[in-house]
Amino acid sequence: MTIRHSNYQGQILTRGHPILDMSALPEPPPWMVDGLCAQTDPDAFFPDKGGSTREAKAVCVRCPVSAECLDWALEHEERFGIWGGLSERERRKLGKQLKKPTGDNNTDKDSAA
Ligand code: SF4
Repeated sequence: MTIRHSNYQGQILTRGHPILDMSALPEPPPWMVDGLCAQTDPDAFFPDKGGSTREAKAVCVRCPVSAECLDWALEHEERFGIWGGLSERERRKLGKQLKKPTGDNNTDKDSAA
């Protein structure tokens, strides 16, 4: 595994996946090895504040594991970087939407006929 650089949180960004310090995991999730970002510039996935996310998102949209990546980021509440094609702000918004009650409060009692 080739170490590329560390981000501003001090995480080691690896060639295998630019976002996560894989060496800190007991075993990286299987989907991660198929991420297209392993073949690209990891800096694109951590743009400076106000910087463009276009390059990273263009990679994510072609990535075969984008759904798994996004699920991972939402589940682990990843605060930084582009994951599954979404920025931090976009993931926060999606996370809030997913946590909102649907308004469908039918219970078995209500729907029993
Ligand atoms: S969706 Fe994007 S960040 Fe996630 S593994 Fe694929 S290329 Fe990397």
